Amino acid sequence: MIRPSEFIHPEDEAALRQLESIPGFPAIAKKVLELGYEKMQYGINMASSIRLSPTQLPNIYNHLPPICEKLGIDEPEFYLEMNPFPNACTSGDTRIFIQVTSGLLEMMDDEELDAVLAHECGHILCHHVLYNMVAQYLSMGLDKLGILGAVAKPVEYALLYWSRKAELSCDRCGSIITSPEVVARTMARLAGGPKKLTASLDLHEWAKQADLYDEIRNDGLWNKTLQIAVTMGLDHPFSAVRVREVMKWGESAQYKNLMQNLHMQSSGMKCPRCHKAVSESWAYCKHCGMKL
Ligand SMILES: [Zn+2]
Ligand SMILES: [Zn+2]
Repeated sequence: MIRPSEFIHPEDEAALRQLESIPGFPAIAKKVLELGYEKMQYGINMASSIRLSPTQLPNIYNHLPPICEKLGIDEPEFYLEMNPFPNACTSGDTRIFIQVTSGLLEMMDDEELDAVLAHECGHILCHHVLYNMVAQYLSMGLDKLGILGAVAKPVEYALLYWSRKAELSCDRCGSIITSPEVVARTMARLAGGPKKLTASLDLHEWAKQADLYDEIRNDGLWNKTLQIAVTMGLDHPFSAVRVREVMKWGESAQYKNLMQNLHMQSSGMKCPRCHKAVSESWAYCKHCGMKL
């Protein structure tokens, strides 16, 4: 089991605090959900997509359960949609489901699919799904009833800002189940096309594009304003930024310690005195000092 606090991106945490400090925000979110779009979307899905199971396309379905078990979340429903555009999403409030497109499956190898599914499961683990849905409904223009009135746009932009930061946390979740390189590879496919084109892509050189982007963005107020105008309507950060962030995290002590702890947990070795997970390489228990 993994806790969100072990990997959540600090900008996600900060943006969420900001979002929840909007006066009346939880009530707004609840109101939008009460409109019943969840059930509408669930119905469309049930009727038009293929629900995967141990007996329905198990070669795809079987990727999901071990990831859920490792992360310690309830298994969501899992759907395949025929759509050449590579995409994956997680929706639902009372009934959560993950949906992947045929275009995504055609583009990803097994490891990369694990990374994508672990990213989606990260949204569930971090309780992102509810607010993501509200963001989605607002951007679909579903406030035509005018419930939110004049605050609809500002709330939508605040949600989209948070949503871009939430993606960074979920990329981290993807790299806990696979590795930062595999997560970066999935983004290479999404940004540059299938493996036959992007297999030899230099991920580090690509990540540097994010620094070049920052230089452009920070070159004076007007350039910054233009870039803000472009990004404020997006629900995902630019892929070069995501690659840079996840590769950077892969080098951090937080990631290395987390992976070591997970490895110790799965190897099952415990200290005879304090019963916490220990590594074979330790001469002494790092928790209580007992000689091993
Ligand atoms: Zn996501
Ligand atoms: Zn101990």
